[in-house]
Amino acid sequence: MNGGEIARLDWLTDADIFRARQRTRDVAAAVGLDRQDQVRVATALSEVGRELFTRDPATVCFRIEAGPVPRLLIELSAPLPSAGTGIEVANSPARRLVDSLDVRVGSARIEVTLTKELRRGHIAALDIAAVRGQLRAAEVQLGPLEQLRVQNADLIETLEELRRRQHDLAGLNEELASTNSGVLAMYTTLSAELDQTNRGVVALYAELDVRGQQLADANEAKSRFLRNVSHELRAPINSILGLGGLLLSGQLDPEQRRQVDYVLSSGRSLLKLVNELLDLARAESDQLEVAVAKFELAPLLGELAATLRPLAINRDVELVVEEPEIDALVTDRDLLTRVLRNLLTNALAFTEHGRIWVRTTTDAAGLEVRIAVGDTGIGIAAEHLGRVFEELFQVPSRLQTQRHGTGLGLPYARRVTQALGGRLELDSVPGSGSTFTVVLPVAAEERPDHPHDLRIGHVLVADDDPAFRYVLRGMLDGLAEHVSEAGDGTEAIVMITASRPDLLLLDLRMPNLGGAEVYATLRNSPDPALRDLPTILMTNMPIDAALRRDVESAAALLSKSDLDRATLAGMIAAVLTSKEQA
Ligand code: ADP
Repeated sequence: MNGGEIARLDWLTDADIFRARQRTRDVAAAVGLDRQDQVRVATALSEVGRELFTRDPATVCFRIEAGPVPRLLIELSAPLPSAGTGIEVANSPARRLVDSLDVRVGSARIEVTLTKELRRGHIAALDIAAVRGQLRAAEVQLGPLEQLRVQNADLIETLEELRRRQHDLAGLNEELASTNSGVLAMYTTLSAELDQTNRGVVALYAELDVRGQQLADANEAKSRFLRNVSHELRAPINSILGLGGLLLSGQLDPEQRRQVDYVLSSGRSLLKLVNELLDLARAESDQLEVAVAKFELAPLLGELAATLRPLAINRDVELVVEEPEIDALVTDRDLLTRVLRNLLTNALAFTEHGRIWVRTTTDAAGLEVRIAVGDTGIGIAAEHLGRVFEELFQVPSRLQTQRHGTGLGLPYARRVTQALGGRLELDSVPGSGSTFTVVLPVAAEERPDHPHDLRIGHVLVADDDPAFRYVLRGMLDGLAEHVSEAGDGTEAIVMITASRPDLLLLDLRMPNLGGAEVYATLRNSPDPALRDLPTILMTNMPIDAALRRDVESAAALLSKSDLDRATLAGMIAAVLTSKEQA
């Protein structure tokens, strides 16, 4: 017997098909297949045998194949009955009863192998010698009636099994149906809830829209009201002022003159209030007409100071206009004058001693101009810093009672500054003084670092942090024509040598080769283009004297922690200018 062979059967007559079937059942039982599988395997064999076997002698060999999944192999070998037999066997329904059915057709013979996988548990204990013994014992010849009885029993058993399966299936179906209806119910509830939520959200949005519109309407109504009322009020006030002036120029006794003076003074206060209300209403309804033009700043500041100086509370309060850092400004001269007049009037009103100054500076990059109106006056407490920009708000104080303020000046100044594209900043320390700063953008063509002036073509950013490289790329947008990136010092050197950038932004701390080493390498290069490559070193560390020494004093050092576009642009401008001069 071959390896793993457990039984063999010679097939000589048609009647042997029953014998073979019975034998297959015995083998299947001996290797531990259950009744159902026994019937399946036996049926498969008799089905194939029916196609295969003629009167010529054939053999059936049963074998166990070891392996991770042991298998029972049933090998049939017979003379080829006809040319089409191979295909017929390959398509036989027997294929559905076993795990595999292989057909090999030779010139004269046909070999078919049926395979059935055996369960591990069974085969572990499977002892081939024992199986052979068991099969020899079962090898009794059954008569045809006996065989029929066995087959009928198989059939009945199979039908019984089928009925059980059907029953199970019906149970499963029922379960599935009830699960489905549960899921359906849940889905219905959920989608109803979702529907309701959606409706709620839609209603909320609608409500918000309505509220927003109401607010806009209310604001517009307020502005309209103020505009109308202001116009209506100005006419009679102007009449009062005119008539008062006439009266004063006539014959009056001292007492009458005093009374008319009072009337005129009250009238002027009222006119001021009305005018400011009108200005604010205009500013708030965005009806300010901004006429931008270039003008000299120093004369404007000088004129303002000259006309407002008499408003100082005490003669010893100084009003100084410092020389502006820029000559000309491009914005609406008239509106800026109004803002500065408000700020100066306040400074003069709330400063009893010391000085008031107007200081005009530009930031490092020349993107913003800052006009600061500072004073050494009473100052504003922290809790009032925000409120002074509210309409009609005034900080209660002794000085307040001596003047005719309206509480409209600062909200107006802020609106106008915003209309000019800028912002109004406030710094104040109670008892020491306040500084109001008008910050205005410098018109693009006036900027010292305007791209055309900067003239940077290719910038190489060397930094191991991709996020920071991304930040720099964003900041360089509009300043540089082309930005490339290196992830460490070595890569930076390679790229510099290959592509000759116009400017290098170099991180001090990088893997492989640090920025300081890259910088030193460049400085020592025999190539003048590399030696003089404009370079800005960047660091996360606080920039102190020691760090400066370490990186050679000539290098521009940039702190990564407080970097913004303006600072970067300013430093680039500085580095490029110093190179040009060198
Ligand atoms: P007004 O000056 O007409 O009262 P503003 O809106 O200009 O109204 O100012 C609001 C308030 O802010 C002032 O009443 C004052 O209390 C405070 N304030 C404004 N400027 C100064 C300043 N330079 N120093 C101290 N307080 C100030």
